[in-house]
Amino acid sequence: MKNFDPKYNDIPKTEIHCHLEGAIRTQTIIDIAREYDLKLPAYEAGALEKYVKVYDQLRDLQAVLDAFEIFQNSITSPAVFERIAWELFEDCAKQNIKLFEVRFSPDWAFHGHDLNWDACLDGLLRAKERAEGKFDMGIGIIAITSRGMGAESCVKTVDWAIRHKKQIQGVDLADGELLYPVGNFVKPMLKAKDAGLRITVHSGEDTPASAVMDTIHAFQPDRIGHGIHIIEDMNAVELVKERGITLEINPWSNYLTNSVPAIESHPLKKLFDLGVRVTINSDDPEVLETNVNNEYRIAHEILGMSMDEISVCNRYAFESSFIPEESRKRIWNKYFNEVSNPN
Ligand SMILES: [Zn+2]
Repeated sequence: MKNFDPKYNDIPKTEIHCHLEGAIRTQTIIDIAREYDLKLPAYEAGALEKYVKVYDQLRDLQAVLDAFEIFQNSITSPAVFERIAWELFEDCAKQNIKLFEVRFSPDWAFHGHDLNWDACLDGLLRAKERAEGKFDMGIGIIAITSRGMGAESCVKTVDWAIRHKKQIQGVDLADGELLYPVGNFVKPMLKAKDAGLRITVHSGEDTPASAVMDTIHAFQPDRIGHGIHIIEDMNAVELVKERGITLEINPWSNYLTNSVPAIESHPLKKLFDLGVRVTINSDDPEVLETNVNNEYRIAHEILGMSMDEISVCNRYAFESSFIPEESRKRIWNKYFNEVSNPN
C-alpha cells in the first residue's frame, strides 16, 4: 500500500507521529540478522513480510504490539540504530516530508540487546544531522515511555530525556492505554513538562472519549496521539478545542488495529470539520505497510477531504511541532508558505 503517486508525493509534507521501531525495512531486518546471527522465521524479504507486516484488520491493538518482537530483536547495536534511523529519514525524503518527528522508546528498543542509550542516541543524532543536510529537512526527536514497562521505566526515560533535552524535544506516553491507566505516570510526565520538554500522550486510540478527557486533565498535553474516539462525546471535542490540543491521527493504523470498524468510517474529516486541529501521519510505516502519501490518499479519496483541507493539517502539524522554532520556521517558509500561510 506504499504510495508514491506524484499527486501526493510532490506536496511538501509534515509528519509528527512515527515510531522508529515500526519503521525498519524488511531487507534491513534480514541484513542485521545475517550480520549478528539472529534467528528469523524467514531470510528472504517476500517470505519474511508475512511475519513483520500487518496487512489485514486485526482483532485489537494488542495483536499489533505483539508483532513488534522481531523489530525489537533487530536493534542490536548503536550502529544498527543509526542505520535504521538513516533509512527512515531517506524514506521520508522520498515522500517529500520536510518536517519530521521521530519517536522511539529507549527502554523497549534497547532492552533486547541491553544497549547503551547514550551511544544509540549519538547514532540517531548522526543520522539526523546527515539527513537534515542532504535532504534539507527539519527533524525532531521524541522519547517514548511505554506504559507496559511500568512506572519505574517512565521515571528512567523521563530523567534520560531531561538530561538530553538539547537533543530531545518531547516525551510521549505510549503503549496500551486499556491495560495501564494513567495514575502511575502522572508524576514523571509532569516532571518532563516542568523541565521544558513537550508532552504528547497516546490516548483515545482504542479507548473511549472519557480516556482522552482523563488524559487532558492529568497531563495537559500539547498533543494527543490518535484521540479519535473524542468524536463520540462533544464535551471531549470541546475540551480538545478549548485547550488547543493537536491530534496526531494515523488513519490506516486505526483501521488495522480495529480502532475504527471500517476505513470509510474514520472520523478524521468529521473532527476537522468540527474545528479540531488534526494532523495526518503514518504511525508505523513498515509494520503497517503505509506511508504519509497513502494516508493523504485515504484522507482525500476515501474520507473526502480536499487538498486545501489537507494543507491546513500540514499547518497544524507545523504549528504544534516540537522541532525547535528556528529550524521549523526556516523549512516552513522555504517549502510550505506558498501552499498554506501559517498566520
Ligand atoms: Zn503511535
